[in-house]
Amino acid sequence: MIDLHTHTICSDGELSPGELVTAAQQRGLQAVAITDHDTVSAFHFLPERELGLEVLTGIELSVEFSGGTFHLLGYHLDPTNHELLAALEKVRAWRAKRNRTMVELLANYGLPVSMDEVRDVAAGGPVGRPHMAVVLQRNGAVDSIQQAFELYLADGRPCYVAKSRMTPGEAIGVIHAAGGAAVLAHPYQLRLSPEALHPAVAAWAGLGLDGLEVWYHAHTPAMNAEYWSLARHHGLCVTVGSDFHGALKPDVQLGGVPGEPPPDEAVLTALRAAAERWQ
Ligand code: AMP
Ligand code: ZN
Ligand code: FE
Ligand code: FE
Repeated sequence: MIDLHTHTICSDGELSPGELVTAAQQRGLQAVAITDHDTVSAFHFLPERELGLEVLTGIELSVEFSGGTFHLLGYHLDPTNHELLAALEKVRAWRAKRNRTMVELLANYGLPVSMDEVRDVAAGGPVGRPHMAVVLQRNGAVDSIQQAFELYLADGRPCYVAKSRMTPGEAIGVIHAAGGAAVLAHPYQLRLSPEALHPAVAAWAGLGLDGLEVWYHAHTPAMNAEYWSLARHHGLCVTVGSDFHGALKPDVQLGGVPGEPPPDEAVLTALRAAAERWQ
């Protein structure tokens, strides 16, 4: 079993990088990739011991395109690459600016929330809307996290502000610059019909996209079949990932991917070969 899509406390997961690797060992995984949102800091915290399983470097970037947004996974990249680190610094600045604007909007709305409180809730991790929701609930402005989103924070609600995001070309380019392979995450989340998804994937393949995450915790057998044939059509490699976040997403288990992916070794070999083209 392998799992090429997991999150640690370095983004929004429950486990530390070391705990995640231990959990993967206990689950009997042959390989695990850590793919935190917009950061590679997990790789500074990994223990220097014999791990007994392959740990792939990875990342999950947020991308904006004409039809909306999607997530792009990067694998086998060099977590010390300067171009990558500079791009991630820019993404963090976009997030910080958007957070400040949202907290100002909330305060102008008369709601009891400050940036200091929001930062405290985030406890040193990347700050985002869930932390604003916790403060609103704690201060009695809403009854639940869900209500905070429904009234104020969700896309389309009055205090929502979009973050700037990378373009597909930028995101694919920065993963390649760091020697990694670029893989479209959970294609179903694009909510595109096959008639819209297929030309979009063709265009991203033209920009150098290397693979599709065909096996994913929320994909149905019909989705697996569609994305696998799409990958074959464009000569893209295929990957297997749960999107494990620990107890924060209790329905997702490490390695928990429905369907029948190809043999682990075949997936890992093709992914490594894809990355080596950029090294
Ligand atoms: P941000 O990265 O700051 O835009 O926050 C995104 C996170 O907010 C997501 O990962 C979810 O955990 C959470 N989120 C987004 N929309 C909702 C919603 N409608 N209800 C509850 N949580 C949400
Ligand atoms: Zn996440
Ligand atoms: Fe994602
Ligand atoms: Fe993810």
